[in-house]
Amino acid sequence: MGDTTVFDVLVIGGGPAGYTAALYAVRAGLSCLVIEKMAAGGQMCETAMIDNYPGFPEGVDGFTLGDAMGKGAARFGAKTVFAEVTALRLTESPKVAVTAEGSFFARTVIVATGATHRHLGLDGEQAMIGRGVGYCATCDGMFYRGKRVAVVGGGNSAVADALYLSGICQHVTLIHRRHELRASPIYLAPLKAKENLTLTLNSRAVALLGDTRITGVTVEENESGTRYDLPVDGVFISIGRDPITALVKGQLTLDDSGYIVADETTKTNLAGVFAAGDVRTKPLRQIVTATADGATAAYFAEEYLRQNNNA
Ligand code: NAP
Repeated sequence: MGDTTVFDVLVIGGGPAGYTAALYAVRAGLSCLVIEKMAAGGQMCETAMIDNYPGFPEGVDGFTLGDAMGKGAARFGAKTVFAEVTALRLTESPKVAVTAEGSFFARTVIVATGATHRHLGLDGEQAMIGRGVGYCATCDGMFYRGKRVAVVGGGNSAVADALYLSGICQHVTLIHRRHELRASPIYLAPLKAKENLTLTLNSRAVALLGDTRITGVTVEENESGTRYDLPVDGVFISIGRDPITALVKGQLTLDDSGYIVADETTKTNLAGVFAAGDVRTKPLRQIVTATADGATAAYFAEEYLRQNNNA
């Protein structure tokens, strides 16, 4: 496919940051193309219920919110191509995004690629994905209806996953490596109220059991070093996320964890290139902060184009 048009703004990633950037860009009179590899909403689509995005008193599912954000930007003229970007050339003029659908060109680029699930690194983990190992409880939880599962992690995601799965599964064991959860205290009472949920603290999942499907997980207690096998049909790994920055490595400055270094202006080390949402260095990665970044990135993209007589 490809397109020889030189867009004012090219947004890489159609999550909340990306589509907010697109909305603000087109409303400022700029031409804008979003390249997204999955569906409008990006990783937000994996969240069954979002209760902390303002304006939805009953909550909203991620797919619906993502779809609405995409449509909102499209209403004012933002275009979307669904394709995976395989290379980004940010120092060229115009800047280039290469995809299996061809190449796309723009004067400014907003990188809104987000972050992806972190792996535990256990033997067989990769091979068992979809055969008992999962990273998205709200996507795959239904496959474990009436079964026993473990969730690994102690942050808000792991706890939310454990609570969600406890409504579907026969039993859930939440395995966390420290003696206290990282998750917000607001989750503690609902966790304790669940009769089919066991909290296993100070412990690590050290091995996956099963030949063709997961049959259990070996747990090691930190203090005693004691190991035991916990029989489960599924293990959900929810230990945080890593930024998706492979495409910009060597072009944009990254911090030690791989996030694109950019302050509240979303400006990166390259003029005309901005980083918005979870992929940027920032203290709080939430949908609401991602949308804020998107608006800011579009604002400064418009300023860059104006100052460079390109708009
Ligand atoms: P997170 O807050 O970084 O928590 C990651 C958890 O995984 C921590 O408990 C960590 O243990 C554990 N962990 C990391 N590496 C591990 C390893 N190799 N082995 C075992 N455990 C490991 O990540 P998150 O829960 O995905 O949340 C990401 C962000 O999204 C956070 O800012 C969170 O607040 C936000 N979020 C918010 C909501 C909400 O507000 N409702 C819901 C979901 C996510 P330690 O505690 O020992 O470091």
